[in-house]
Amino acid sequence: MNWFPIFLDLRGADCLVIGGGPVALRKTRQLLAAGARVTIVAPQRIDGFATLAPAGTDEADHTGAAVTFIDSVFTPDLAIGRRIVFAASDDPEVNRQAAELAAKHGALVNVVDDPTHSSFISPAIVEREGLTIAVGSDGVAPILAREITSQIEAMIPPRLGALAQLLSRWRSTVRDTIASPDLRRHFWQRVIRGPVGRRVLAGRDEEAARLMSLELERAAAGDTRPRGEVHIVGAGPGDPELLTLRALKLMNDCDVVLHDRLVPAAVLALVRRDAERIDVGKPRGAGGGRQERINELMIELARAGRRVLRLKGGDPLIFGRGGEEMEALARAGVPFEVVPGITAALGAASSASIPLTHRKLSHAVVFVTGHPDDDPDGPLDWTRLAAPAQTVVFYMALGTVGAISDRLIEHGLDPATPAALVAHGTLADQLVLTGTIATLPEIVAAQQPPTPALLIVGDVVAVREGLGLFNSAAAAADRPALSDRENGGVSAAWLTWLGNSSGNSSNI
Ligand code: SAH
Repeated sequence: MNWFPIFLDLRGADCLVIGGGPVALRKTRQLLAAGARVTIVAPQRIDGFATLAPAGTDEADHTGAAVTFIDSVFTPDLAIGRRIVFAASDDPEVNRQAAELAAKHGALVNVVDDPTHSSFISPAIVEREGLTIAVGSDGVAPILAREITSQIEAMIPPRLGALAQLLSRWRSTVRDTIASPDLRRHFWQRVIRGPVGRRVLAGRDEEAARLMSLELERAAAGDTRPRGEVHIVGAGPGDPELLTLRALKLMNDCDVVLHDRLVPAAVLALVRRDAERIDVGKPRGAGGGRQERINELMIELARAGRRVLRLKGGDPLIFGRGGEEMEALARAGVPFEVVPGITAALGAASSASIPLTHRKLSHAVVFVTGHPDDDPDGPLDWTRLAAPAQTVVFYMALGTVGAISDRLIEHGLDPATPAALVAHGTLADQLVLTGTIATLPEIVAAQQPPTPALLIVGDVVAVREGLGLFNSAAAAADRPALSDRENGGVSAAWLTWLGNSSGNSSNI
Protein backbone atom coordinates (compact mmCIF):
# COMPACT_ATOMS: atom_id res chain seq x y z
CA MET A 1 0.00 0.00 0.00
CA ASN A 2 1.71 3.18 -1.18
CA TRP A 3 -1.17 5.53 -0.45
CA PHE A 4 -2.86 5.81 2.90
CA PRO A 5 -6.68 5.75 2.63
CA ILE A 6 -8.63 8.25 4.75
CA PHE A 7 -11.96 10.09 4.64
CA LEU A 8 -11.65 13.88 5.14
CA ASP A 9 -14.09 16.25 6.78
CA LEU A 10 -14.30 19.11 4.26
CA ARG A 11 -17.40 20.86 5.57
CA GLY A 12 -16.77 24.60 5.20
CA ALA A 13 -13.14 24.02 4.11
CA ASP A 14 -11.65 26.30 1.41
CA CYS A 15 -10.70 24.28 -1.66
CA LEU A 16 -9.40 25.27 -5.08
CA VAL A 17 -10.07 23.69 -8.45
CA ILE A 18 -7.86 24.83 -11.32
CA GLY A 19 -9.44 24.25 -14.71
CA GLY A 20 -12.82 24.60 -16.40
CA GLY A 21 -13.22 21.25 -18.19
CA PRO A 22 -15.18 18.06 -17.41
CA VAL A 23 -12.64 16.70 -14.89
CA ALA A 24 -12.60 20.01 -13.00
CA LEU A 25 -16.40 19.97 -13.01
CA ARG A 26 -16.50 16.43 -11.61
CA LYS A 27 -14.05 17.29 -8.82
CA THR A 28 -16.00 20.46 -8.03
CA ARG A 29 -19.21 18.47 -7.70
CA GLN A 30 -17.56 15.98 -5.36
CA LEU A 31 -16.11 18.73 -3.18
CA LEU A 32 -19.47 20.49 -3.01
CA ALA A 33 -21.20 17.25 -2.10
CA ALA A 34 -18.79 17.00 0.84
CA GLY A 35 -19.75 20.54 1.95
CA ALA A 36 -16.57 22.33 0.84
CA ARG A 37 -16.29 25.99 -0.22
CA VAL A 38 -14.88 25.70 -3.71
CA THR A 39 -13.11 28.35 -5.75
CA ILE A 40 -12.78 27.53 -9.44
CA VAL A 41 -10.15 29.35 -11.38
CA ALA A 42 -10.16 29.13 -15.21
CA PRO A 43 -10.29 31.59 -18.08
CA GLN A 44 -13.11 29.52 -19.60
CA ARG A 45 -15.52 26.97 -18.23
CA ILE A 46 -17.78 24.41 -19.81
CA ASP A 47 -21.55 24.96 -19.46
CA GLY A 48 -22.00 22.37 -16.74
CA PHE A 49 -20.53 24.74 -14.14
CA ALA A 50 -23.48 27.09 -14.61
CA THR A 51 -25.80 24.58 -12.90
CA LEU A 52 -23.70 24.43 -9.72
CA ALA A 53 -24.86 27.72 -8.21
CA PRO A 54 -26.02 31.15 -9.31
CA ALA A 55 -22.92 32.59 -11.02
CA GLY A 56 -20.71 34.65 -8.78
CA THR A 57 -22.33 33.69 -5.47
CA ASP A 58 -20.22 32.67 -2.58
CA GLU A 59 -23.07 32.22 -0.12
CA ALA A 60 -22.58 28.98 1.77
CA ASP A 61 -25.56 26.57 1.84
CA HIS A 62 -26.57 24.69 5.00
CA THR A 63 -23.78 22.15 4.55
CA GLY A 64 -21.20 24.92 4.23
CA ALA A 65 -20.82 24.30 0.48
CA ALA A 66 -20.30 27.37 -1.69
CA VAL A 67 -18.87 28.11 -5.13
CA THR A 68 -16.81 31.08 -6.28
CA PHE A 69 -15.69 31.53 -9.89
CA ILE A 70 -12.54 33.40 -10.89
CA ASP A 71 -12.39 33.97 -14.62
CA SER A 72 -8.63 34.07 -15.10
CA VAL A 73 -5.54 31.92 -15.22
CA PHE A 74 -4.10 30.53 -11.97
CA THR A 75 -2.01 32.97 -9.95
CA PRO A 76 0.20 31.95 -7.00
CA ASP A 77 -1.78 33.89 -4.37
CA LEU A 78 -4.77 31.60 -5.03
CA ALA A 79 -2.91 28.66 -3.47
CA ILE A 80 -2.79 30.27 -0.03
CA GLY A 81 -5.07 29.00 2.72
CA ARG A 82 -6.58 26.05 0.83
CA ARG A 83 -7.23 22.65 2.38
CA ILE A 84 -7.33 20.86 -0.97
CA VAL A 85 -6.20 21.84 -4.45
CA PHE A 86 -7.19 19.96 -7.59
CA ALA A 87 -4.99 20.95 -10.52
CA ALA A 88 -7.09 20.00 -13.53
CA SER A 89 -6.18 22.60 -16.16
CA ASP A 90 -5.17 21.35 -19.59
CA ASP A 91 -1.66 22.80 -19.20
CA PRO A 92 0.56 20.27 -17.39
CA GLU A 93 3.11 22.99 -16.59
CA VAL A 94 0.49 25.17 -14.85
CA ASN A 95 -0.76 22.14 -12.95
CA ARG A 96 2.72 21.28 -11.73
CA GLN A 97 3.53 24.82 -10.63
CA ALA A 98 0.23 25.11 -8.82
CA ALA A 99 0.87 21.82 -7.09
CA GLU A 100 4.28 22.93 -5.82
CA LEU A 101 2.93 26.21 -4.52
CA ALA A 102 -0.06 24.66 -2.85
CA ALA A 103 2.08 22.00 -1.19
CA LYS A 104 4.37 24.74 0.10
CA HIS A 105 1.36 26.39 1.75
CA GLY A 106 0.29 23.13 3.35
CA ALA A 107 -2.57 22.13 1.06
CA LEU A 108 -3.25 18.57 -0.08
CA VAL A 109 -2.71 18.55 -3.83
CA ASN A 110 -3.92 16.35 -6.62
CA VAL A 111 -2.67 16.82 -10.14
CA VAL A 112 -5.07 15.04 -12.42
CA ASP A 113 -3.54 11.95 -14.05
CA ASP A 114 -0.17 12.72 -12.47
CA PRO A 115 0.34 10.86 -9.18
CA THR A 116 4.05 11.74 -9.01
CA HIS A 117 3.19 15.42 -8.51
CA SER A 118 0.25 14.71 -6.21
CA SER A 119 0.16 14.45 -2.44
CA PHE A 120 -3.16 12.60 -2.59
CA ILE A 121 -5.13 10.67 -5.16
CA SER A 122 -8.88 10.33 -5.20
CA PRO A 123 -10.38 6.85 -5.24
CA ALA A 124 -13.19 5.51 -7.40
CA ILE A 125 -16.27 5.42 -5.23
CA VAL A 126 -19.57 3.63 -4.75
CA GLU A 127 -22.06 5.62 -2.73
CA ARG A 128 -25.17 4.71 -0.84
CA GLU A 129 -26.68 7.29 1.48
CA GLY A 130 -24.55 7.20 4.59
CA LEU A 131 -22.08 4.71 3.15
CA THR A 132 -19.12 5.28 0.84
CA ILE A 133 -16.94 2.55 -0.60
CA ALA A 134 -13.64 3.84 -1.98
CA VAL A 135 -11.35 1.82 -4.25
CA GLY A 136 -7.80 2.87 -5.08
CA SER A 137 -5.13 1.40 -7.34
CA ASP A 138 -2.14 3.34 -5.98
CA GLY A 139 -2.89 5.83 -8.74
CA VAL A 140 -1.52 3.56 -11.45
CA ALA A 141 -4.63 1.90 -12.87
CA PRO A 142 -7.65 4.10 -12.19
CA ILE A 143 -9.58 2.29 -14.90
CA LEU A 144 -9.20 -0.96 -12.98
CA ALA A 145 -10.44 0.72 -9.80
CA ARG A 146 -13.48 1.97 -11.71
CA GLU A 147 -14.09 -1.49 -13.13
CA ILE A 148 -14.09 -2.89 -9.60
CA THR A 149 -16.46 -0.21 -8.37
CA SER A 150 -18.91 -1.05 -11.12
CA GLN A 151 -18.83 -4.67 -9.97
CA ILE A 152 -19.35 -3.57 -6.38
CA GLU A 153 -22.13 -1.27 -7.55
CA ALA A 154 -24.02 -4.29 -8.92
CA MET A 155 -23.34 -6.34 -5.80
CA ILE A 156 -24.31 -3.85 -3.10
CA PRO A 157 -28.04 -3.68 -2.43
CA PRO A 158 -29.40 -0.24 -3.29
CA ARG A 159 -30.80 0.11 0.23
CA LEU A 160 -27.55 -0.52 2.04
CA GLY A 161 -27.43 3.19 2.80
CA ALA A 162 -30.75 2.87 4.62
CA LEU A 163 -29.21 0.10 6.73
CA ALA A 164 -26.26 2.37 7.55
CA GLN A 165 -28.70 5.06 8.63
CA LEU A 166 -30.62 2.67 10.85
CA LEU A 167 -27.37 1.67 12.56
CA SER A 168 -26.47 5.30 13.08
CA ARG A 169 -29.91 6.15 14.53
CA TRP A 170 -29.72 3.33 17.08
CA ARG A 171 -26.06 3.63 17.89
CA SER A 172 -26.26 5.58 21.15
CA THR A 173 -29.30 3.65 22.45
CA VAL A 174 -27.49 0.39 21.83
CA ARG A 175 -24.34 1.70 23.50
CA ASP A 176 -26.40 2.68 26.55
CA THR A 177 -28.19 -0.68 26.69
CA ILE A 178 -25.34 -3.13 26.03
CA ALA A 179 -22.24 -2.24 28.01
CA SER A 180 -19.82 -4.93 26.80
CA PRO A 181 -18.13 -4.05 23.46
CA ASP A 182 -18.04 -7.75 22.49
CA LEU A 183 -21.73 -8.28 23.14
CA ARG A 184 -22.42 -5.06 21.28
CA ARG A 185 -20.48 -6.28 18.26
CA HIS A 186 -22.42 -9.58 18.30
CA PHE A 187 -25.65 -7.66 18.65
CA TRP A 188 -24.88 -5.55 15.57
CA GLN A 189 -23.92 -8.67 13.60
CA ARG A 190 -27.28 -10.23 14.46
CA VAL A 191 -29.01 -7.04 13.38
CA ILE A 192 -27.16 -6.70 10.07
CA ARG A 193 -27.28 -10.36 9.07
CA GLY A 194 -30.65 -11.23 10.53
CA PRO A 195 -34.30 -10.33 10.10
CA VAL A 196 -33.81 -6.62 10.84
CA GLY A 197 -31.19 -6.15 8.11
CA ARG A 198 -33.20 -8.15 5.60
CA ARG A 199 -36.32 -6.04 6.30
CA VAL A 200 -34.40 -2.80 5.75
CA LEU A 201 -32.88 -4.04 2.49
CA ALA A 202 -36.35 -5.08 1.32
CA GLY A 203 -37.64 -1.56 2.01
CA ARG A 204 -39.78 -2.57 4.98
CA ASP A 205 -38.57 0.05 7.42
CA GLU A 206 -41.51 -0.02 9.80
CA GLU A 207 -41.26 -3.76 10.41
CA ALA A 208 -37.49 -3.40 10.74
CA ALA A 209 -37.90 -0.74 13.44
CA ARG A 210 -40.34 -2.96 15.32
CA LEU A 211 -37.99 -5.96 15.16
CA MET A 212 -35.07 -3.75 16.17
CA SER A 213 -36.81 -2.75 19.42
CA LEU A 214 -37.60 -6.40 20.07
CA GLU A 215 -33.99 -7.39 19.34
CA LEU A 216 -32.70 -4.80 21.81
CA GLU A 217 -35.15 -5.85 24.51
CA ARG A 218 -33.93 -9.41 24.13
CA ALA A 219 -30.29 -8.37 24.21
CA ALA A 220 -30.95 -6.33 27.36
CA ALA A 221 -32.45 -9.48 28.92
CA GLY A 222 -29.28 -11.40 28.06
CA ASP A 223 -30.73 -13.35 25.12
CA THR A 224 -27.91 -13.61 22.61
CA ARG A 225 -29.11 -16.48 20.45
CA PRO A 226 -28.89 -16.04 16.67
CA ARG A 227 -32.17 -15.05 15.06
CA GLY A 228 -33.89 -17.28 12.60
CA GLU A 229 -36.95 -16.46 10.62
CA VAL A 230 -39.46 -18.09 8.34
CA HIS A 231 -40.18 -17.19 4.74
CA ILE A 232 -43.55 -18.55 3.66
CA VAL A 233 -43.06 -18.67 -0.07
CA GLY A 234 -45.34 -19.52 -2.98
CA ALA A 235 -43.62 -21.88 -5.42
CA GLY A 236 -46.16 -21.27 -8.20
CA PRO A 237 -48.19 -23.88 -10.04
CA GLY A 238 -45.33 -26.17 -11.02
CA ASP A 239 -43.33 -24.76 -13.92
CA PRO A 240 -40.04 -23.53 -12.36
CA GLU A 241 -40.04 -20.54 -14.72
CA LEU A 242 -43.15 -19.29 -12.97
CA LEU A 243 -41.31 -18.76 -9.68
CA THR A 244 -40.93 -15.17 -8.55
CA LEU A 245 -37.45 -13.62 -8.41
CA ARG A 246 -37.85 -13.24 -4.66
CA ALA A 247 -38.73 -16.91 -4.26
CA LEU A 248 -35.62 -17.84 -6.22
CA LYS A 249 -33.45 -15.54 -4.13
CA LEU A 250 -34.74 -17.05 -0.89
CA MET A 251 -34.28 -20.56 -2.29
CA ASN A 252 -30.64 -19.62 -2.74
CA ASP A 253 -30.26 -18.24 0.76
CA CYS A 254 -32.16 -20.54 3.11
CA ASP A 255 -30.72 -23.02 5.62
CA VAL A 256 -33.62 -25.43 5.55
CA VAL A 257 -36.62 -25.93 3.30
CA LEU A 258 -39.96 -27.40 4.37
CA HIS A 259 -41.91 -28.32 1.27
CA ASP A 260 -45.20 -29.85 0.28
CA ARG A 261 -46.02 -32.64 -2.08
CA LEU A 262 -47.26 -30.01 -4.53
CA VAL A 263 -43.77 -28.59 -5.08
CA PRO A 264 -42.26 -30.53 -7.99
CA ALA A 265 -38.70 -31.84 -8.11
CA ALA A 266 -37.74 -29.37 -10.84
CA VAL A 267 -38.51 -26.50 -8.45
CA LEU A 268 -36.79 -28.15 -5.48
CA ALA A 269 -33.71 -28.64 -7.61
CA LEU A 270 -33.27 -24.85 -7.53
CA VAL A 271 -32.95 -24.73 -3.74
CA ARG A 272 -29.38 -24.16 -2.48
CA ARG A 273 -27.64 -27.50 -2.62
CA ASP A 274 -26.50 -27.49 1.01
CA ALA A 275 -29.87 -26.55 2.45
CA GLU A 276 -31.56 -29.27 4.47
CA ARG A 277 -34.75 -30.50 2.79
CA ILE A 278 -37.75 -31.67 4.80
CA ASP A 279 -40.75 -33.11 2.99
CA VAL A 280 -43.66 -32.15 5.22
CA GLY A 281 -46.15 -33.47 2.68
CA LYS A 282 -45.67 -36.91 4.13
CA PRO A 283 -47.12 -37.79 7.53
CA ARG A 284 -44.32 -37.58 10.12
CA GLY A 285 -44.34 -39.18 13.56
CA ALA A 286 -47.35 -39.82 15.70
CA GLY A 287 -49.73 -37.61 17.65
CA GLY A 288 -51.15 -34.21 16.81
CA GLY A 289 -52.30 -33.02 13.42
CA ARG A 290 -49.90 -32.78 10.52
CA GLN A 291 -50.37 -29.00 10.27
CA GLU A 292 -49.63 -28.56 13.99
CA ARG A 293 -46.41 -30.53 13.60
CA ILE A 294 -45.38 -28.36 10.64
CA ASN A 295 -46.03 -25.23 12.71
CA GLU A 296 -44.00 -26.58 15.63
CA LEU A 297 -41.14 -27.60 13.36
CA MET A 298 -40.95 -24.15 11.74
CA ILE A 299 -40.90 -22.46 15.14
CA GLU A 300 -38.28 -24.85 16.50
CA LEU A 301 -35.98 -24.38 13.48
CA ALA A 302 -36.32 -20.58 13.50
CA ARG A 303 -35.62 -20.47 17.24
CA ALA A 304 -32.44 -22.43 16.61
CA GLY A 305 -31.36 -19.50 14.41
CA ARG A 306 -32.06 -21.08 11.04
CA ARG A 307 -33.49 -19.38 8.00
CA VAL A 308 -36.49 -21.47 7.17
CA LEU A 309 -38.05 -21.56 3.74
CA ARG A 310 -41.62 -22.80 3.92
CA LEU A 311 -42.18 -23.59 0.26
CA LYS A 312 -45.79 -24.08 -0.72
CA GLY A 313 -47.44 -24.87 -4.04
CA GLY A 314 -49.08 -21.98 -5.87
CA ASP A 315 -49.75 -19.04 -3.59
CA PRO A 316 -49.14 -19.77 0.09
CA LEU A 317 -52.31 -18.05 1.24
CA ILE A 318 -54.74 -19.69 -1.16
CA PHE A 319 -56.10 -23.00 0.11
CA GLY A 320 -52.66 -23.68 1.52
CA ARG A 321 -53.21 -23.22 5.26
CA GLY A 322 -50.59 -20.47 5.06
CA GLY A 323 -52.91 -18.34 7.17
CA GLU A 324 -52.65 -20.78 10.07
CA GLU A 325 -48.87 -20.92 9.70
CA MET A 326 -48.66 -17.12 9.96
CA GLU A 327 -50.83 -17.17 13.07
CA ALA A 328 -48.70 -19.83 14.75
CA LEU A 329 -45.46 -17.97 13.98
CA ALA A 330 -46.88 -14.65 15.18
CA ARG A 331 -48.02 -16.29 18.43
CA ALA A 332 -44.54 -17.74 18.94
CA GLY A 333 -42.90 -14.37 18.23
CA VAL A 334 -40.96 -15.77 15.26
CA PRO A 335 -40.40 -13.19 12.51
CA PHE A 336 -41.83 -14.21 9.14
CA GLU A 337 -42.65 -12.85 5.74
CA VAL A 338 -44.95 -14.12 3.02
CA VAL A 339 -43.93 -14.17 -0.64
CA PRO A 340 -46.82 -14.58 -3.06
CA GLY A 341 -46.82 -17.15 -5.84
CA ILE A 342 -48.89 -17.73 -8.94
CA THR A 343 -51.87 -19.68 -7.72
CA ALA A 344 -52.90 -22.85 -9.60
CA ALA A 345 -56.09 -21.27 -10.98
CA LEU A 346 -54.12 -18.51 -12.69
CA GLY A 347 -51.34 -20.79 -13.89
CA ALA A 348 -53.58 -23.57 -15.15
CA ALA A 349 -56.10 -21.24 -16.81
CA SER A 350 -53.42 -19.26 -18.63
CA SER A 351 -51.56 -22.29 -19.85
CA ALA A 352 -54.84 -23.86 -21.00
CA SER A 353 -55.73 -20.59 -22.81
CA ILE A 354 -58.84 -20.07 -20.71
CA PRO A 355 -59.38 -16.41 -19.80
CA LEU A 356 -60.80 -16.33 -16.28
CA THR A 357 -62.60 -13.07 -17.02
CA HIS A 358 -63.90 -11.92 -20.38
CA ARG A 359 -65.59 -8.69 -21.42
CA LYS A 360 -68.60 -10.57 -22.77
CA LEU A 361 -68.71 -13.80 -20.84
CA SER A 362 -67.53 -13.43 -17.29
CA HIS A 363 -67.29 -10.51 -14.91
CA ALA A 364 -66.12 -12.29 -11.79
CA VAL A 365 -63.94 -15.21 -10.76
CA VAL A 366 -64.55 -17.30 -7.68
CA PHE A 367 -61.99 -19.69 -6.22
CA VAL A 368 -63.67 -22.47 -4.27
CA THR A 369 -62.43 -25.57 -2.56
CA GLY A 370 -63.99 -28.65 -4.05
CA HIS A 371 -62.97 -30.68 -1.03
CA PRO A 372 -65.99 -31.26 1.19
CA ASP A 373 -63.79 -31.71 4.30
CA ASP A 374 -62.64 -28.12 3.99
CA ASP A 375 -66.10 -26.85 4.58
CA PRO A 376 -67.14 -28.37 7.90
CA ASP A 377 -69.21 -25.41 8.99
CA GLY A 378 -71.84 -25.64 6.33
CA PRO A 379 -72.51 -26.15 2.67
CA LEU A 380 -71.18 -23.83 0.00
CA ASP A 381 -73.56 -21.22 -1.34
CA TRP A 382 -74.44 -23.23 -4.44
CA THR A 383 -76.99 -20.73 -5.69
CA ARG A 384 -74.26 -18.11 -5.82
CA LEU A 385 -71.85 -20.52 -7.49
CA ALA A 386 -74.49 -21.41 -10.11
CA ALA A 387 -75.04 -17.74 -11.06
CA PRO A 388 -74.37 -16.79 -14.68
CA ALA A 389 -71.68 -14.51 -16.15
CA GLN A 390 -68.91 -15.64 -13.81
CA THR A 391 -66.12 -18.21 -13.72
CA VAL A 392 -65.85 -20.64 -10.84
CA VAL A 393 -62.59 -22.47 -10.21
CA PHE A 394 -62.75 -25.47 -7.92
CA TYR A 395 -59.47 -26.49 -6.29
CA MET A 396 -59.04 -30.06 -5.00
CA ALA A 397 -61.98 -31.12 -7.11
CA LEU A 398 -60.73 -34.25 -8.86
CA GLY A 399 -62.68 -36.67 -6.70
CA THR A 400 -65.78 -34.51 -6.55
CA VAL A 401 -66.40 -33.40 -10.15
CA GLY A 402 -69.59 -35.47 -10.29
CA ALA A 403 -70.97 -34.10 -7.03
CA ILE A 404 -70.07 -30.52 -8.03
CA SER A 405 -71.77 -30.97 -11.39
CA ASP A 406 -74.97 -32.29 -9.72
CA ARG A 407 -75.13 -29.47 -7.18
CA LEU A 408 -74.54 -26.72 -9.76
CA ILE A 409 -77.21 -28.03 -12.11
CA GLU A 410 -79.63 -28.55 -9.19
CA HIS A 411 -79.12 -24.90 -8.26
CA GLY A 412 -79.92 -23.65 -11.73
CA LEU A 413 -76.69 -23.66 -13.72
CA ASP A 414 -77.33 -24.33 -17.42
CA PRO A 415 -76.14 -27.93 -18.02
CA ALA A 416 -74.62 -26.72 -21.31
CA THR A 417 -72.20 -24.42 -19.44
CA PRO A 418 -68.67 -25.23 -20.63
CA ALA A 419 -66.30 -26.75 -18.08
CA ALA A 420 -62.68 -27.89 -18.07
CA LEU A 421 -60.55 -30.02 -15.83
CA VAL A 422 -56.88 -29.06 -15.94
CA ALA A 423 -54.46 -31.61 -14.48
CA HIS A 424 -50.73 -30.92 -13.99
CA GLY A 425 -51.37 -27.33 -15.06
CA THR A 426 -48.28 -25.49 -16.45
CA LEU A 427 -46.24 -28.71 -16.42
CA ALA A 428 -44.94 -30.41 -19.55
CA ASP A 429 -47.58 -33.13 -19.24
CA GLN A 430 -50.52 -30.77 -18.65
CA LEU A 431 -53.81 -32.45 -19.47
CA VAL A 432 -56.94 -30.49 -20.29
CA LEU A 433 -60.33 -32.23 -20.45
CA THR A 434 -63.22 -30.13 -21.68
CA GLY A 435 -66.95 -30.64 -22.01
CA THR A 436 -70.00 -29.15 -20.36
CA ILE A 437 -70.77 -29.22 -16.69
CA ALA A 438 -73.18 -32.05 -17.52
CA THR A 439 -70.78 -34.14 -19.62
CA LEU A 440 -67.45 -33.51 -17.86
CA PRO A 441 -67.89 -35.97 -14.94
CA GLU A 442 -68.16 -38.86 -17.39
CA ILE A 443 -65.18 -37.68 -19.41
CA VAL A 444 -63.12 -37.38 -16.23
CA ALA A 445 -64.20 -40.83 -15.05
CA ALA A 446 -63.17 -42.31 -18.40
CA GLN A 447 -59.79 -40.54 -18.63
CA GLN A 448 -58.69 -40.82 -14.96
CA PRO A 449 -56.49 -37.70 -15.01
CA PRO A 450 -53.70 -37.42 -12.42
CA THR A 451 -53.56 -34.98 -9.47
CA PRO A 452 -53.16 -32.12 -8.92
CA ALA A 453 -56.08 -30.96 -10.99
CA LEU A 454 -58.66 -28.22 -10.88
CA LEU A 455 -62.06 -27.63 -12.38
CA ILE A 456 -62.99 -24.46 -14.25
CA VAL A 457 -66.69 -23.82 -14.87
CA GLY A 458 -67.97 -20.99 -17.05
CA ASP A 459 -68.58 -19.81 -20.61
CA VAL A 460 -64.94 -18.68 -20.79
CA VAL A 461 -63.91 -22.31 -21.28
CA ALA A 462 -65.44 -22.06 -24.76
CA VAL A 463 -62.90 -19.37 -25.67
CA ARG A 464 -60.14 -21.97 -25.57
CA GLU A 465 -62.10 -24.12 -27.96
CA GLY A 466 -62.78 -21.09 -30.15
CA LEU A 467 -59.05 -20.55 -30.61
CA GLY A 468 -58.98 -23.75 -32.67
CA LEU A 469 -55.47 -24.54 -31.50
CA PHE A 470 -55.88 -27.70 -29.57
CA ASN A 471 -58.13 -30.19 -31.25
CA SER A 472 -57.51 -32.84 -33.82
CA ALA A 473 -58.38 -32.11 -37.46
CA ALA A 474 -61.30 -34.55 -37.23
CA ALA A 475 -62.81 -32.73 -34.27
CA ALA A 476 -62.18 -29.41 -35.97
CA ALA A 477 -64.09 -30.50 -39.07
CA ASP A 478 -67.46 -30.56 -37.36
CA ARG A 479 -66.93 -27.40 -35.37
CA PRO A 480 -68.27 -23.99 -36.41
CA ALA A 481 -65.70 -21.92 -38.30
CA LEU A 482 -63.63 -19.42 -36.38
CA SER A 483 -65.42 -16.65 -38.27
CA ASP A 484 -68.56 -17.59 -36.32
CA ARG A 485 -67.05 -15.82 -33.37
CA GLU A 486 -68.31 -12.30 -33.10
CA ASN A 487 -66.46 -9.28 -31.86
CA GLY A 488 -64.01 -11.25 -29.82
CA GLY A 489 -66.86 -12.94 -27.99
CA VAL A 490 -68.05 -16.48 -28.49
CA SER A 491 -71.09 -17.00 -30.66
CA ALA A 492 -74.15 -19.02 -29.80
CA ALA A 493 -73.08 -21.50 -32.49
CA TRP A 494 -69.96 -22.23 -30.50
CA LEU A 495 -71.77 -22.72 -27.27
CA THR A 496 -74.31 -24.98 -28.95
CA TRP A 497 -71.55 -26.99 -30.52
CA LEU A 498 -69.93 -27.38 -27.13
CA GLY A 499 -73.22 -28.41 -25.60
CA ASN A 500 -73.75 -31.12 -28.21
CA SER A 501 -70.25 -32.46 -28.37
CA SER A 502 -69.38 -35.25 -26.04
CA GLY A 503 -66.26 -33.38 -25.02
CA ASN A 504 -62.68 -33.89 -25.95
CA SER A 505 -59.32 -34.11 -24.32
CA SER A 506 -55.95 -32.90 -25.30
CA ASN A 507 -52.46 -33.16 -24.01
CA ILE A 508 -50.65 -29.89 -24.40
N1 SAH B 1 -51.86 -22.96 -2.57
C1 SAH B 1 -52.12 -23.67 -3.79
C2 SAH B 1 -53.32 -24.54 -3.71
C3 SAH B 1 -53.20 -25.65 -2.74
S1 SAH B 1 -54.60 -26.71 -2.73
C4 SAH B 1 -52.26 -22.66 -4.93
O1 SAH B 1 -52.35 -21.46 -4.68
O2 SAH B 1 -52.28 -23.10 -6.07
C5 SAH B 1 -54.12 -27.95 -3.85
C6 SAH B 1 -54.95 -27.88 -5.09
O3 SAH B 1 -54.44 -26.91 -5.97
C7 SAH B 1 -54.94 -29.14 -5.90
O4 SAH B 1 -55.84 -30.09 -5.41
C8 SAH B 1 -55.37 -28.64 -7.25
O5 SAH B 1 -56.75 -28.41 -7.29
C9 SAH B 1 -54.69 -27.30 -7.29
N2 SAH B 1 -53.42 -27.35 -8.02
C10 SAH B 1 -52.19 -27.12 -7.55
N3 SAH B 1 -51.28 -27.21 -8.53
C11 SAH B 1 -51.93 -27.49 -9.66
C12 SAH B 1 -51.55 -27.69 -11.01
N4 SAH B 1 -50.29 -27.63 -11.38
N5 SAH B 1 -52.52 -27.95 -11.91
C13 SAH B 1 -53.82 -28.02 -11.55
N6 SAH B 1 -54.24 -27.83 -10.29
C14 SAH B 1 -53.32 -27.58 -9.35
